[in-house]
Amino acid sequence: MRNINTIGRSIMAEILKGKPAADALNEKIVNEVNLLSKINIRPALAIVRVGSKPDDIAYERGAVKRCEKTGVAVRAITLPEDVSQSRLVEAIQKLNEDRSVHGILLLRPLPAHINDDLIRNTLAPEKDVDGITDGSLAGVFVGTDLGFPPCTPQACMEMLDYYGVEVKGKNVVVIGRSTVVGKPAAMMLTKRHGTVTICHTRTVDLPGVCRQAEILIAAAGKAKMVSKEYLSPGQIVIDVGINFTEDGSMCGDVDFDQAKEIVAAITPVPGGVGAVTTAVLVKHVVEAAKRQANV
Ligand code: NAD
Repeated sequence: MRNINTIGRSIMAEILKGKPAADALNEKIVNEVNLLSKINIRPALAIVRVGSKPDDIAYERGAVKRCEKTGVAVRAITLPEDVSQSRLVEAIQKLNEDRSVHGILLLRPLPAHINDDLIRNTLAPEKDVDGITDGSLAGVFVGTDLGFPPCTPQACMEMLDYYGVEVKGKNVVVIGRSTVVGKPAAMMLTKRHGTVTICHTRTVDLPGVCRQAEILIAAAGKAKMVSKEYLSPGQIVIDVGINFTEDGSMCGDVDFDQAKEIVAAITPVPGGVGAVTTAVLVKHVVEAAKRQANV
């Protein structure tokens, strides 16, 4: 990666787009799918959606499109918003037992009457392609291939790899400590030998901590909160946030216009990490199919 923005020079940041990284992943996926077809295996994803939240429908549409593009089969299971917990457990168990399904994506958050911990741990770990079971998360924590890592933090790693950003020995700051993004991202970065600080709502002097980062991962879910006082020259910024402004336009957690004048490189929103997340999901489905067939 070119470190183009050094102190005293006002050169625009390099924009780390997600599409080339996603395209590179897609190419590998298509090759794997072709190889598997020679032994009569077609990787298949089941998407379980409860209700009709626009966010869920948009994500489902993106995942279906990505599967179709790469030759992965996809099956959508839609249940009503008021589905009973036992009915949902039953639907997941059926997919766990179905040998033609290799990966299961359960769209969350689930409605309030459903016990999220119980449902997510109903998934068979070997089919848990978005890393939501305790088993998958333990795999991230201990650094083994138990289950799969959650797709979004894995997409951050794919972006760092694609753009040749070395993590080893770097001071890395992660804003956010959710089990979906912040915590697993911090574990993955530690595994890559980064010196990682996890920040959250109680962090004292968040801007000061962030300014010390060489790599900054923003996953707070707060529109444009990372403004110029959080940033310093030379930083690589990965913006995971997906937020909507009052006029309905999508933006990240980072104030992109301010950041691009300061940092060395930044992922845009839209068109950054989000573009890679579904590619990672499909990669996991293919990997799951290989593991289940022992190839
Ligand atoms: P979350 O609400 O579960 O967690 C947010 C975390 O950020 C919390 O740990 C909280 O402590 C921290 N936080 C919130 N406000 C803060 C503040 N002002 N200062 C410091 N820390 C603060 O959200 P999440 O599920 O982890 O998602 C984070 C963001 O990533 C959201 O915008 C979400 O839409 C986005 N997201 C993107 C993708 C993708 O594919 N790009 C996928 C999943 C989530």
